[in-house]
Amino acid sequence: MLPKNLPIVDGIYEFKFPLHNLAFFKVGGFCDVLFTPADENDLVNFLSRKPADLPITILGNMSNVLISDAGIRGCVLRLSQLRDIRFFDEYVEVGAGATLPAFINRCMQESVSCLEKLFCIPGCIGGAVSMNAGIPGFEVSEVLLSVSAVSIADGKKQIFSREDLHVSYRNGGIPPGVVVTSAKLRTVAKSCDEIYAEIRDISERRKMTQPIGMPTCGSTFKNPPGRKAWQLIKEAGCDSLSVGGARVSEKHCNFLINSGNATAADFVELINKIKARVLEKTGILLQEEIRRMGFD
Ligand SMILES: Cc1cc2nc3c(=O)[nH]c(=O)nc-3n(C[C@H](O)[C@H](O)[C@H](O)COP(=O)(O)OP(=O)(O)OC[C@H]3O[C@@H](n4cnc5c(N)ncnc54)[C@H](O)[C@@H]3O)c2cc1C
Repeated sequence: MLPKNLPIVDGIYEFKFPLHNLAFFKVGGFCDVLFTPADENDLVNFLSRKPADLPITILGNMSNVLISDAGIRGCVLRLSQLRDIRFFDEYVEVGAGATLPAFINRCMQESVSCLEKLFCIPGCIGGAVSMNAGIPGFEVSEVLLSVSAVSIADGKKQIFSREDLHVSYRNGGIPPGVVVTSAKLRTVAKSCDEIYAEIRDISERRKMTQPIGMPTCGSTFKNPPGRKAWQLIKEAGCDSLSVGGARVSEKHCNFLINSGNATAADFVELINKIKARVLEKTGILLQEEIRRMGFD
């Protein structure tokens, strides 16, 4: 049923929105309504006046989420319009909806070093902070100073310093029930040429080792302490497994791929099979890095 009594907003409501159109896995059903606020005040206005029983889900660029075939009930928030970037002496303030590649390009133009090591991660700032996105040896939390957020319950603005957040591997420690609207990140001066050389190297390395351009959400499982998830998957003989249209990537076996006609149910079955076989072979229970949405 379509949500009723939605507040008047400056942004856009899109009813019965097909989430598979935006999701990196290219699977997932409809949400009842997708709301794209025009700016932070529009989001505050919406959250403070929305019907109390309206379920709210936050999505970023959808590059780390498996959305169920049944879709998501209630309202999905998409902050793609909150993408302002303001530079100060030793930090930058960036909107949650700015994508990492766009933000890093802008930093490069300003000769400012910040997140360039994460150039090939296709998420946006809100998702990267929430996931504590990273590569071996560097993660977002290392340059994070604070996060501005809005409470889903009543639209109140909040600020969390880095110390307030219980950050861990692939978890930014953002408390449940808040929407990240922007982040303050530490910067240092670095020449545009140096940053360019770094992101070019990263892009070339990624092209050789990852299925770039395929419908995937990157690493499916977290690396267990002292081990690599891809090695465990290989050891368990899962590197050529498939279920329906969902299959393990030939280039990187911790990446799952939609080969054209996969459903979310195919991905769930494939993930469960890999977990069971890895557990049986190695005694290690893999934890998912991707987040499931709309499954309960
Ligand atoms: C080819 C490829 C390579 C990748 N490589 C890496 C890698 O090297 N390292 C890595 O860490 N990840 C990697 N990823 C995974 C993914 O890009 C990151 O996890 C990214 O940070 C997710 O951001 P997103 O905006 O897409 O978030 P989404 O996938 O949309 O959401 C992820 C989570 O963040 C929450 N969230 C999103 N926005 C907000 C917000 N504004 N406020 C509160 N919560 C929010 C969502 O509710 C959800 O729980 C890769 C993905 C792909 C497709």
